[in-house]
Amino acid sequence: SMHAPYYINLCAKEESKLDKSIGHLIAAARAGEWMGAYRLVFHPGAYLNRKPEKAMEISKNTVNRLFEELEAEGIEEFTFAPETTGKRTQLGNVGEVVELCATFDHFEPTIDFAHVHARGRGFLNKKEDYNCIFSTIEDQLDIDILHCHFTTIEYGKGGEVKHHTLDESDEYGPDIHDLLSNLIDNGWNANIICETPLRDVDSLKMKKIYEELK
Ligand SMILES: [Zn+2]
Repeated sequence: SMHAPYYINLCAKEESKLDKSIGHLIAAARAGEWMGAYRLVFHPGAYLNRKPEKAMEISKNTVNRLFEELEAEGIEEFTFAPETTGKRTQLGNVGEVVELCATFDHFEPTIDFAHVHARGRGFLNKKEDYNCIFSTIEDQLDIDILHCHFTTIEYGKGGEVKHHTLDESDEYGPDIHDLLSNLIDNGWNANIICETPLRDVDSLKMKKIYEELK
């Protein structure tokens, strides 16, 4: 998988920023095609004090323009993966990410559980709390592999503040055991990218926990 630049905004106010966002996504798709990346992850955008519905409408128009330009460039092998975002001012709650993916071909969701937790100011506290995320996805999309991000996270009034390590699980959620046991119980096929400050160490810890729970 590949992560596109962080400054993409599908619903920017200025036309020049929309053009640049499309350019970044095309560049990501081109490099992703060379590399055989199965997902091109990106953060959809920011509301910028507009109604979420308005931001969504502009975003969909931008994606239509993006697809026209990709076709003109002859780029065919790509799957964009809009990510659930961690701040309440950003487009990208679970419903919005699923809506984008239900609207467009070549779109699959990236579920960043820490971002969902932070946006909801501590939403994921037990295994069952994941069910409404999965049912929203299942109701609207047909997923082979669920692409996910995981870290423990600190949040404030506006959502995401800082990523933390798995060793800090006593202080910061969500708890990886809850997510993994829910995925196992429901038979989800998932790829989980570790996004803690200790990616290599913590991804091995997550793998070990998974193998113990399985
Ligand atoms: Zn991201």
